Amino acid sequence: MMTAELTKKVIILLGPPGSGKGTQAAQLAKHYQLFHIDTGAALRTEIKLNSDVGQLAKGYMDKGQLVPSDVVISVIEAAMTRIEPNQSGYLLDGFPRNLTQAEGLDKVLAHLHLNITRVFYLEMDHQLLVDRLAYRQSCPQCGEKYNSKLNPTQVADTCDACGHVGLEVRKDDAPEVIGERLIAYNNETAPLVNYYQERNLCDTVNGQQAIDTIFKQLTTAIDKIAQPVG
Ligand code: AMP
Repeated sequence: MMTAELTKKVIILLGPPGSGKGTQAAQLAKHYQLFHIDTGAALRTEIKLNSDVGQLAKGYMDKGQLVPSDVVISVIEAAMTRIEPNQSGYLLDGFPRNLTQAEGLDKVLAHLHLNITRVFYLEMDHQLLVDRLAYRQSCPQCGEKYNSKLNPTQVADTCDACGHVGLEVRKDDAPEVIGERLIAYNNETAPLVNYYQERNLCDTVNGQQAIDTIFKQLTTAIDKIAQPVG
């Protein structure tokens, strides 16, 4: 049976922390009207709300460890139901992050009669990641992102886009936590590249290129994928 869901895209961005997943995800979501699900941001919202999930997640996130998969899978499953009718599918940013989550996602998608459209792996040199993460800043007012070393604001601590004074640094971008996050990535998330490559679902993209160059490569690949015929 052909349902509207069958045509919904499911795009996954894989890559280490600092590889630019969030930047590309936001642009792709806008370009294709996709529902952008950013797991890290969703968990940070739960922490701000001081919900049960937030309280549990905080301990792991502060240490740079992965939040238990059953918690994350239920957060994603609940988030996926909130797609708007005009959205053309899902853009998963920061999920799945290990094999358990990838298998959990397969089950959620089967339930929704959806398939993974494509997985993009943003490949990066690890030393560059440390610089990208350790100097990362964002504006709490408009969300604009900066890097005090690689892409500084005109005036220190002041958002170029909206003028807000007082940029935020993520607690888990502290140098000692960055190391833990990269270890978690190497041990748990990196094997997913192989998992999706074996299923012929994964393209590798050089994450060290200019933002626009990467975006062009992603959209070219997505545009080539034929929509399923019901
Ligand atoms: P991010 O914003 O993607 O860098 O994620 C920040 C933190 O949120 C990670 O270091 C983890 O502690 C947690 N997190 C985000 N996504 C996941 C996930 N899929 N599984 C487990 N923990 C996650």
